[in-house]
Amino acid sequence: MITLNDNKPVWIRDNEHGFVIGKIQDITSDNITVQLNDNRKPLVVPYDSAFQAEEYDKDVDDNCALMYLNEATLLNNVRRRYKKDIIYNYVANILIAINPYKELRGVYSVDTMKKYNGKSLGVMPPHVFAIGDKSYRDMRTTRQSQSIVISGESGAGKTESAKYVLQYLTESYGSHNGLIEDRINKSNPLLEAFGNAKTTRNNNSSRFGKFIEVHFNEKYRVVGGYISHYLLEKSRICVQSQDERNYHIFYRLCAGAPESIRSALRLGPPDNFHYLKRGCTQYFCNTQTENKLSKNRLSQDFISKGPLHDPQLDDTNDFIECDQSMDHMGLSTQDKINIYGTVAALLHLGNINFEDDPESTKGGCKVTSSTEQSLTITSEMLGLNIRDLRNALITRVIMTRTTSKNNDNIIPVPLKVHEAQNARDALAKAIYIRLFDQIVNFINKSIPFSSSNSYIGILDIAGFEYFPINSFEQFCINYCNEKLQQFFNERILKEEQVLYEREGLGLKKIQFIDNQDCIDLIESKTIGCFDLLDEESKLPTPRAEHFTNEVHKRNKGHPRLEVPRKSKLRSSREIRDDEGFLIQHFAGGVVYSTAQFIEKNNDALHASLLILIQECKNSFIKSLFPKLPELEQSAGKLNFISVGSKFRSQLTDLLNKLRSTGISFIRCIKPNLKMVPNLFEGGQILSQLQCSGMVSVLALMQQGFPSRTQFAELYSMYKSYLPAELARLEPRLFCKALFKALNLRDADFKFGITKVFFRPGKFAEFDQLMKSDP
Ligand code: ADP
Ligand code: MG
Repeated sequence: MITLNDNKPVWIRDNEHGFVIGKIQDITSDNITVQLNDNRKPLVVPYDSAFQAEEYDKDVDDNCALMYLNEATLLNNVRRRYKKDIIYNYVANILIAINPYKELRGVYSVDTMKKYNGKSLGVMPPHVFAIGDKSYRDMRTTRQSQSIVISGESGAGKTESAKYVLQYLTESYGSHNGLIEDRINKSNPLLEAFGNAKTTRNNNSSRFGKFIEVHFNEKYRVVGGYISHYLLEKSRICVQSQDERNYHIFYRLCAGAPESIRSALRLGPPDNFHYLKRGCTQYFCNTQTENKLSKNRLSQDFISKGPLHDPQLDDTNDFIECDQSMDHMGLSTQDKINIYGTVAALLHLGNINFEDDPESTKGGCKVTSSTEQSLTITSEMLGLNIRDLRNALITRVIMTRTTSKNNDNIIPVPLKVHEAQNARDALAKAIYIRLFDQIVNFINKSIPFSSSNSYIGILDIAGFEYFPINSFEQFCINYCNEKLQQFFNERILKEEQVLYEREGLGLKKIQFIDNQDCIDLIESKTIGCFDLLDEESKLPTPRAEHFTNEVHKRNKGHPRLEVPRKSKLRSSREIRDDEGFLIQHFAGGVVYSTAQFIEKNNDALHASLLILIQECKNSFIKSLFPKLPELEQSAGKLNFISVGSKFRSQLTDLLNKLRSTGISFIRCIKPNLKMVPNLFEGGQILSQLQCSGMVSVLALMQQGFPSRTQFAELYSMYKSYLPAELARLEPRLFCKALFKALNLRDADFKFGITKVFFRPGKFAEFDQLMKSDP
């Protein structure tokens, strides 16, 4: 949408910076030649990679106040503000938040909160508090519950933003005694201890999604809360990638628990545990933290001294915080012992290892003699007979129906070493996943909302992801984002239309590209990826290759599905072409490697392990595994629980909830990969703006009247250019008279009640006209 006035500044796409600025020198039918400001030789670029730049040297709170609203001016406005430590800005009602990676003084203080109480969006500078207050006011005026959807990639600041919104609501609109509010806020350290881990993208990365509802009574005061959680990452419990850690709680328990607990649970330093040292490398030592830690003499032996040591994390103090948080939530000493006991049992379980058993005629395995002690400790802690646990780990039972009525034959099948290791890991994962559910249950019980009238829900869930290798986890999260994106478009579109109506513009409907076809590819009955995956899992010998072929075969010619080219699947091992598929998501194409889809989609334990754990003598653990009647009966594919189908139904519930509420969106952006303050990596940021759907929002707005400005604002901008008699008019009349005098085309702008709206680029034209035509 370049107007071909040469010498006008334009933004040109650039991988590193997102865009670089220059001036147009020449234009042909396909290309334009641009002289960049840095004196390099002129660039010839395709027409559609250039964007008109702003001529005013200022930044704006709401990007819609820009004269040219496009991805380049958006990025530039974001950058200008970031340089001034202003991390928030809007696109209409959507808040964009850049992670500052440093403490911003006063930005989140109680005094600041007060300034946002009761203020309409736009009155105060952009802020998460403004979004919190808008939700609260909308809840009161429309008598409808509200949601705030926070998205962004790992490390973008979603969880921190969610905490600030929570604090804002509880601080501003809490009840008199404050107990429930306190618990709602204090539930965070507890959730994070069990659901967060250090990753290469974020030292405190949430490995689950959550929807926190803050409930209000009929007087619109906080009365309770409720947390739903999604897709806790299972694989991390047993294996971590290079430079990453397991869930915080494991290290904290080792480092911070009192001596009596540590010895009862036979804990040592994290370096002693197989499950904790699979992602380790030597960390750089920070002497300051070192000193702080060494003051706590007692626990010195239990902090990792080896490669697991991480000076950036203070596991000792964090344990104390987490323990206190449990007290706050009203957990009893026994509850805490149960929880810690379970965490420790998993560490010992992970230390059990296997080797080939030369005495087994069927190629079976046995527990290695050096890890026999771990087997003993684990069985004690889980309340199991040692022989039973041993057998359940090294054999699997197969039940076959005999011809005589209802008689099952139980055949034990010895497992190979890697199969026994898998059984062990499956048990550990099953216990931890259920422990996490239980922690969330504890929290929910302590913040009951029986007298609720309406709620504000805050969704904190991972954004669109693509890595060098993408597996089932990315598939699920991207599916979720496809659904959220559809909802986002639906609502933004609606809001634009509501605004046009409210301002009396009388416009026809805006069109936009729907992503329903992509959602169908994933979730439709029988031929969608999820259903095909479940079908595959029910076959006698499920195979990744067969599953992948089915996906391609049953969806032949689907515009969103492609066979990946080999080069795109980067892996140490050869992955065959037919082992994966490429999906064209709204945010770009992603190649999924399907090698582990079947295993990751299945939450089940071997029947023998499940039955064993359901009968264990540890009553807490037993309570985590309630018996479900249908599971006991089903033979063959004993207890197939599909992770995908569970997530789908959770997501359906979530979207139903979101659809029934008013909504606000916060898009969090990670400014750089180094996780440091004051570094703006334009290319990275632009790609996040694309992935979060912000760029498509701009495209959507281009169909209507994207630029808008208050009459009063316009008046003060231009009154000095005009004769005094015109300037005496009140702002709306002034603008009307002005537009008439300039002979502007009716189709290019609309007068609303409070604002004037411009078609794309027309605000700037108007500006030119004003200045050139006195
Ligand atoms: P996400 O949940 O998106 O993965 P987090 O909310 O955990 O990301 O943020 C990652 C880190 O970035 C935090 O631990 C914190 O150090 C920093 N951070 C995020 N938001 C802010 C903020 N508003 N002010 C200061 N630091 C922040
Ligand atoms: Mg998070």
